[in-house]
Amino acid sequence: MKICQQLIQLYVNESQAESLRLTSKTYQKACNWLSEKVVVSKNLNQRQLNNLYYKELRQRFGLKSQMAQSVMKTVIASYKSAQSNGHEWSLVHYKHPSYDVVWNRDYSLNERLFSVNTLAGRIKLPFESKGMQKYFNDDWKFGTAKLVYKFNKWFLHIPMTKGIPLLKEQDVTNIVGIDLGINFLATSYDSKGKTTFFNGRKVKHKRGQFKAVRKSLQQRQTTSARKRIRAIGQRENRYVRDVNHQVTKALVERYPKGTLFVVEDLTGIRQATEKVHVKNRYVSVSWAFYQFRQLLEYKAQLYGHKVMVVSPKYTSQTCPKCGHIAKRNRNKKTHTFTCVNCSYQSNDDRIGAMNLYRKGMAYISDTVMVKV
Ligand SMILES: [Zn+2]
Repeated sequence: MKICQQLIQLYVNESQAESLRLTSKTYQKACNWLSEKVVVSKNLNQRQLNNLYYKELRQRFGLKSQMAQSVMKTVIASYKSAQSNGHEWSLVHYKHPSYDVVWNRDYSLNERLFSVNTLAGRIKLPFESKGMQKYFNDDWKFGTAKLVYKFNKWFLHIPMTKGIPLLKEQDVTNIVGIDLGINFLATSYDSKGKTTFFNGRKVKHKRGQFKAVRKSLQQRQTTSARKRIRAIGQRENRYVRDVNHQVTKALVERYPKGTLFVVEDLTGIRQATEKVHVKNRYVSVSWAFYQFRQLLEYKAQLYGHKVMVVSPKYTSQTCPKCGHIAKRNRNKKTHTFTCVNCSYQSNDDRIGAMNLYRKGMAYISDTVMVKV
């Protein structure tokens, strides 16, 4: 299963802009109103929220039925996300106008037009389609999108999946983001907010040793040296494979059946052969990561889990607390992450796992949690 997210710019005339403004402002107000109720009642059960607030949401804000449903989903998702980041019941405030729209219900999209329900009725808008074409002719599915207003322009964030239909909440018992790194071979972050580090230092050291021996042998041009180089290469491969087996096994056994593992698509890095500095030696790691993912996918299937592969875009630069994206957030040397916006601090491998977890969450709750 592949997922990705696209941001497209919408082209609007004055009256369309007015419809979008009115709708997204109303949506924002409704979310803030419901958020204040939820933080008091401490209830995130959709059916119960529906019984309690649906009528009032519609009357007070003049929302259509579907919009009222989406408001509840948005608020529930925000609180679940905040809680998974360790913020138990602190008030979620929606700072900017936005509007979550469900595919084929609130919006549709073809090569030319974006069509969306607003409080003033259905409107159809052209959009910047560059880079979008390939998603129309393949078997990509569009998820719940988010309409946002930024830099005096209107944008639509659209999550997309390919391969299997969008997962439903009831199919998934747990979400685990897995970040693959060097110091920690794998770092996982789960629905309970627990971080687990699978130490990779030993692996790094061992692979460095293999490399050093290989190098010294390379300087001798003898047949026996070449033979030994090959043997060492095979031993190294077996070693890494063995470690990958152990870690992926630990992961699939650790979590309950129905877990959704979220990993990065590192195939780009595999080509580029990412190099990591280890005491004046360089260790190529990319093929090991690729193998890790293959083994995880294989084992996940046996254990009744799923693996979701997402784009690695911004996973190491995004603040999981406030959503701020900045290269400066991350200090690669000290392996620390410090948000330049809200000062949130953590280990950088953990940040990666948290952000992958969030990407998984966004799918399950069927609501895109793009911070605006
Ligand atoms: Zn932050």
